[in-house]
Amino acid sequence: MQKPTMDFLAFQEFEPREQRASPNCIWCGASARTNRAHLISRKLSTGARNAPTLRFNVCEGCNTRCGGLEQWVLRFTPLSWVRVMLYLRPASRGTTRDVPSYFFSGAMNEWVVFHLDGASHSYAVATQLLLSPKSSPMLLTQEAPESHSLLSRRFMAAIRDKAFKTNIHESLPAGFSPRFLLEGEHILLVSRTTNEAQASIEYASGVDWGAPAAGRMCLENTGREQLHFRWSKTNWARFCAKTAFEALCLFEGSEKCLRPGFTFVRDFVTRGEILPGREVVFDEKGPRSARDVPTPVFLDLTVSQAAPQPIAAVLPHAEAGMHVVALYEVHGWVLASVVVAGFPPSVLVLGGPDEHLDDFYQMIYDDQQCTFEFTRLAYDRSKPIVPMAIPGNSFSDLAETYGLKSV
Ligand SMILES: [Zn+2]
Repeated sequence: MQKPTMDFLAFQEFEPREQRASPNCIWCGASARTNRAHLISRKLSTGARNAPTLRFNVCEGCNTRCGGLEQWVLRFTPLSWVRVMLYLRPASRGTTRDVPSYFFSGAMNEWVVFHLDGASHSYAVATQLLLSPKSSPMLLTQEAPESHSLLSRRFMAAIRDKAFKTNIHESLPAGFSPRFLLEGEHILLVSRTTNEAQASIEYASGVDWGAPAAGRMCLENTGREQLHFRWSKTNWARFCAKTAFEALCLFEGSEKCLRPGFTFVRDFVTRGEILPGREVVFDEKGPRSARDVPTPVFLDLTVSQAAPQPIAAVLPHAEAGMHVVALYEVHGWVLASVVVAGFPPSVLVLGGPDEHLDDFYQMIYDDQQCTFEFTRLAYDRSKPIVPMAIPGNSFSDLAETYGLKSV
């Protein structure tokens, strides 16, 4: 068997500058008023001193559409959790409220609905009224004791007036007792099955329980958890393609982006509705089953959809929390490898079969340093060199494309 070989490409830092020559939106082509589009959402690069932006080449409408895509990814996917853990400023108000999350309390012998609170970096217990077949109704809340009877009355009134919505989730943890949940102004009945929900309503309506017992808040967390994210390969690919294509504009200008060869990627990112995605459930060890593993992305976004497979894609290595966008050409195909927050890379073929790049570019965000670094192939021997390991079979295609010699 042939031993895998590794070669290195030499990179150097540079400062990219957005060209102002033709101030057209790279997404829709309309003339764009001065604006500010962040290549990487500010929510994922908090405190960065040199966050790359486009000021002349993304119109307001397209920027808003891209923002909606970012918002979906930041609210529902595993990135929502990572964002609160890694990128929030201290005392920021972000939470993982849109990811239904449960931990198992040993003290209560029950699952508890919670979310991650950005300000305190700790678990926040949602206000919930448990209707366990094992015991009498139990109010769990972090609100002050003086508001407990008010909260109880609210739940009781909602049950009496049937002023609640019912959410049935078969994917809830086994042994999860049905409960009423206070979500902002609304009350939700959450249950694993319709039968359990129905039984809870009957039980709750029929019993005169006065004020339910309020649970102690020293809920011992046993480390058992279940988080219900959403995943859409298409939305994720659009999110990655958005950053890669705006990076292309930063590095090579809007005229390059507006070439007909990139029509498909422009439409892919900005046209069409944001998909709802499917549920993926993680427990304390990660995805619960093979079905819950978010699928890696390799997508041909060219007009012809005829990119060769396999193609000499580069898979950048990044620590958790780092973002990397590599933009490069392989024999007339323009590729982007995108790593967000250290997640597995997405590989996107943006253009081809006859599109070219002047260089091999990388944009790297180091969340420890809060700095973006931009590199391209090294030509100036007087400047320091940053090597990047490339597996042998990809190296030969890249070396041929860029006219490089192996050293
Ligand atoms: Zn536009």
